[in-house]
Amino acid sequence: MVVTRFAPSPTGYLHIGGLRTALYSWLWARKNGGKFRLRIEDTDLARNSAEATKKIVEAFDWVGLNYDDEVVYQSDRFDLYKSYILKLLDEGKAYRCYMTKEELDKLREEQMARKERPRYDGRYRDFTGTPPAGVDPVIRIKAPLEGEIVFDDGIKGTITIKASEVDDFIIARSDGTPTYNFVVAVDDALMGITDVIRGDDHLYNTPKQIIVYEALGFDLPRFYHVPMILGPDGKKLSKRHGATDVMEYKTQGYLPEALLNFLVRLGWSHGDQEIFSVEEMLEHFDPTDINSGASQYNPDKLLWLNAHYIKNSSNERLAKLLEDFGLYLLSHDKREILLDIFKERCKTLAEMAQQIKEVLEAPETYDEKALKKAFKGDGAQLLAAFAEAVEAAEGLHLPTDWHALLERFVEKKQIGFGKIGMPLRVALIGRLGGPDLSDVMSIVGKEETLSRIEKLLTHLQA
Ligand code: GLU
Repeated sequence: MVVTRFAPSPTGYLHIGGLRTALYSWLWARKNGGKFRLRIEDTDLARNSAEATKKIVEAFDWVGLNYDDEVVYQSDRFDLYKSYILKLLDEGKAYRCYMTKEELDKLREEQMARKERPRYDGRYRDFTGTPPAGVDPVIRIKAPLEGEIVFDDGIKGTITIKASEVDDFIIARSDGTPTYNFVVAVDDALMGITDVIRGDDHLYNTPKQIIVYEALGFDLPRFYHVPMILGPDGKKLSKRHGATDVMEYKTQGYLPEALLNFLVRLGWSHGDQEIFSVEEMLEHFDPTDINSGASQYNPDKLLWLNAHYIKNSSNERLAKLLEDFGLYLLSHDKREILLDIFKERCKTLAEMAQQIKEVLEAPETYDEKALKKAFKGDGAQLLAAFAEAVEAAEGLHLPTDWHALLERFVEKKQIGFGKIGMPLRVALIGRLGGPDLSDVMSIVGKEETLSRIEKLLTHLQA
């Protein structure tokens, strides 16, 4: 059985890099009918892990990732870690080291002076004498003295590290607390993790974790180290470019399936296919196909995907989602026409809500530039004349009725469409651009069209 896990350090929220590794791990477990587990790496007790877990689960819920079994909290497991440390001490695979900070600093300075890489020199490895008084020892693991540590990374290929590059590292501090690489290895082994998929910032932790696995006689999992996500500028992903709370994407009006689709392709591909439903991801995903180089965050691509998923969503679903953006269309009589129009035009739900409100609510203010452009000639007279034509017309219901009226008007006045189009746009929505005018007028109706024209003409006189 394939068992994967997501093991965030509780930083307070889930960011998209984390969501991407979680997605890869989730896909691999679900595809294989295995398990996807959640472990909170909260050994740094200063942080509130319950709150962080809540945030992560909230983000998982939003995008539709679920996990199996109980959440494992490292902060609950100190006794367990201690028992494994004692076991290694008993078996002579770990030892107490009494070196003081001053001694360590001195050793480091000497090594640097000789242009050597600073490393612990193993002086207590086989120590049998009387320990110096007044020093609380750390516990170090016996790392191999010669040979190599080799593992096959499912993404990076064979990774070989000379034993001389890994010293007898600390597995418990002088206050007894276990260190990061020790607890990760113990947890992954005890949680039955078969496939560790994580960021490649952990690549060089892996040899140390392998030493722990071997000392404790645990089977090694397969490792996949996923390259990082770079910003559009090719630098480390910054807050501005997406290194932010996943839930922020919800606030900005992204659909969860668009974000997942974006993330799955950020570092993985299947031919040149861009659009993936979760079912298709499950069908095609294999972590060995993850790119070995870094990928670049492309906000336009995310927008493009979001527009695609908005366009293909039902109006009922969109109406529900738009309520989070202060727009209540579920039982609105113009719901279908509004959503049919705006799902084709908008890239986010936020944009959609804003543009629909612009149609449904008379403009409070007018765009200055648009006013100048639309009314530099006889715009005001034309607008007043159009209002008369509207007043006189009968049976203005469908967009085609309004369109026919507009056509008769420009023909009679012998003007181009823009001559009346621009002033009318400013009257209806307060600016240039926006959707088809016939659509807007058929949605707001005759009375409201007249009232918006009237309002702008009054404004112009003032
Ligand atoms: N807690 C680590 C992190 O948030 C992940 C460790 C791992 O996946 O092994 O980067």
